[in-house]
Formats: sequence, C-alpha cells, structure tokens
Amino acid sequence: DTRGRADSKTDRNSLHKDGKGNVIVSVRVRPDVGVKDSKQELEWEVNNKRALVAYKGREGGDYYYDNVFDTQDNNRRVYDAAAKRLVRRVMEGYHGTVFAYGMTGTGKTFSMQGTATNPGVIPLAITDIFSYIRETPQREFLLRVSYLEIYNEKINDLLAGPIQPGLNGQPGPQEEIKLREDSKRGVYATPLKEEIVQSPTQLLRVIARGDNARRVAGTQFNARSSRSHAVVQIVVESRERASTNVSGLKESKRSAIVPGGVRVSTLSLIDLAGSEKAADSKERRTEGSHINKSLLTLGTVIARLSSDKEGDKDKPGSAKDKASKEKHLPYRDSKLTRLLQPALSGNSLVSILCTIQIGSSGSVAAANSHTGETLNTLKFASRAKNNIVSHAKKADESLGSGADAGSRALLDRYRVEIQ
Ligand code: ADP
Ligand code: MG
Repeated sequence: DTRGRADSKTDRNSLHKDGKGNVIVSVRVRPDVGVKDSKQELEWEVNNKRALVAYKGREGGDYYYDNVFDTQDNNRRVYDAAAKRLVRRVMEGYHGTVFAYGMTGTGKTFSMQGTATNPGVIPLAITDIFSYIRETPQREFLLRVSYLEIYNEKINDLLAGPIQPGLNGQPGPQEEIKLREDSKRGVYATPLKEEIVQSPTQLLRVIARGDNARRVAGTQFNARSSRSHAVVQIVVESRERASTNVSGLKESKRSAIVPGGVRVSTLSLIDLAGSEKAADSKERRTEGSHINKSLLTLGTVIARLSSDKEGDKDKPGSAKDKASKEKHLPYRDSKLTRLLQPALSGNSLVSILCTIQIGSSGSVAAANSHTGETLNTLKFASRAKNNIVSHAKKADESLGSGADAGSRALLDRYRVEIQ
C-alpha cells in the first residue's frame, strides 16, 4: 500500500535530460509525524519519473510536477534535484530564480535556509558557486550580493542598517526603494546596497546580517516573516582571465589586455510570504491585504501566462506582441510580480519549490482549513508547471560600455581569489 507516501527511490537524475529543464516545479511534503491528511483526501506518489499528487473527491484530477519530495528527503536532495543545475548555469551566464511558495509553517524557510546540520538551498548554492569558481580557473569572478524584503508592498533594504516595522504603510527611515528596468540587468531595485564578497563565509555572513535586520524590525518575527517576501540576489560577473604572460603587468594595464568582455548574470533566491489568507479581518485590512496583493497578482500572472504562450508562437518578440502582453499580464500591479517579471516572462531559468503539509498537528497549516489551502498550493504549482516558458539565454559578454568599464575595475580589485 503506497498511499500517503512517495516512493523515494525514483530516478531523479534523469529528469533534466529531455532539455526541458529551464523551468522546474517541485512539491515538498513536510513531515508531520504520524498524522495523515485527516480526511484522507490527498495522496501522493511518484510514478516512474513523473511525480503526481492526486486529490480525491472534489474536483479530482492529478497534478504533475518535476519532483515530489517526500518526508524522507533532506535539503541536500531537494537542492540537488531542484536547484543545483540552475546554480551552475547562473555561473555560466544565465539568470536563475528559485522561489519557495506555500502556507506558513510548511517549510519554505527550512528549505531555503535550512539548519546548521541540514543546510538549505541558499547555503548549498553558495558552496556550489565557490566550487564552480575553483573549477573554472580560465575565468575570473566578481560576486555582489543584495538582500531585500517586500513588506506591505514596500521594499526594505536588509543590508542598509535599521528598518522600521513599516506598519500601516508608514515609511521606515530608509530612502524609498524603487524598481527600475534596463536591458542588461533586467528589473532591479534602487538604491539598494550591494556587498562584494570573496568567500563563502563572507557571503553567508552578509545574508545572516540581512536575516538579523529582518528579525530586529519585527516585534513578532514570525508574524513578519510570514507576511513578507525575502529576496537574496547574487550578481555574478565574470570574464576570461588574463593569460599568464600579462599577469606581471600592473592591474590598471591588465584589464585593457583581457580579451573577453564582462558577463553578468543574477541568481535570485526568494522565500515568499505565506500563501494562506490572512486569519482575521484586522490583519487583512492592514498587512494581509498587501501580501495578498503580491501573491494574488503572482497567481494571476501565472494563470494568464498560458494565453500568452499562444501569442508567442505567432509573433515572437514583436513590439505589438510585447505591448499586448504587458496589458493582460499585470506585472506592475505588485512589487513582487514586477521583480519576478524577467523570471516569469522567460528570461530566467526558474525553479519553484512548493511546500505543503499533509496532516493536522498544531501548525498554522492545520489551523486553517488546510485541505483547501494545500490544494491551492498544488494548483499554483501545476499552473506554474504548465504555463511558465523560459527562453533564457546566456548573457552576452559586453565590451566598452561605461558600466562595463566600472565592472572591469571592480573585477581587477575584488575578484574572488582561488585558494
Ligand atoms: P515556513 O517558512 O513555510 O513558514 P518553516 O520553514 O519555518 O515554514 O517551517 C516550520 C517548522 O517546521 C520549522 O520548525 C521547521 O524547522 C519545520 N520543518 C519544515 N519543513 C521541514 C522538513 N522538511 N523537515 C523537518 N522539519 C521541517
Ligand atoms: Mg518562513
């Protein structure tokens, strides 16, 4: 009887071999010791290489994902199947976005951050980034990291010193952070502090500082963290390394001789707010309404992407096509969707990890009518799987622009040294 448990012996290694690996959607079931879905409505199993979750009774139907992680799978397994390849490709010059979606208490933060003994996607990605740099001596790398949160539809810079709770939409002490777009960087927040980092320890320390800023800002940390979206972005710049016969030259002369331009790509690691509806009406009026706005808009965009695919086939990239897209896809209705626009519209590799909990012990997931919320998460994941199409391309190595000259100087000075 395989009811209620996934077959963890599935061959997950073969998942990416069909070349459709630009968008990976996974479901992770959080352990809930000894308790099954109270009404036995949900069951899940892994069928050959395809994962399915079946919802019995209402609405019926099976949902297909790239991975379903069961309660036996640790963070390493989740990372290896859902994010490792994406991280490597970011190092090669693609944009990559990983985000965790699900109700509060289902394991988003556990999956993204993990614990000291069971590190999550963020620390495992950091380890891989530096391994890649060591394995790629022919290129040199510059790493910049930023960390922001979206709270009440307001962007806070978690690396720029103290932030206020921002209750009722009041501004904190920070300068207002806006989202801008340019062709090379995509959508980015400004002004936003970026730290240059040269070792895994430094990078982890910067992120820990951001986590701390979030903790300090929230009088009730859990309440805040379940209502805000946390976005770590690691910008990777690289260029071909100067050959050994020029390495004796002064730093200032060297960059002029290096043949390649600078390639820039971004890894975004996002821990979304809890997807449940705000529990009481007071909350809904204030903070909850904004969270819902961002997550609702995300849901709307993902749902509408499917009609977008048809337009794509006819006139890829035409001005008319682009204009009509922006009209029916409301990216600009929320900060979250605006920030995720490059990822959702196909310029980035994407991995979505949807977390669910099946069972009914004393968690937020259980306190809500959890079957309905769980089903919402499963549907979200399924729509994302069906609708998001990525045509992500490797970033060009640009030469000669003003910004690029700045990058080259920074690379000269702050590149990661191979130990
Ligand atoms: P979320 O960020 O989605 O609100 P958390 O990641 O904070 O949820 O998880 C809630 C609790 O459940 C935490 O105590 C966490 O350690 C635990 N937890 C979540 N997922 C797992 C898992 N896969 N294995 C073990 N513990 C987990
Ligand atoms: Mg969390």
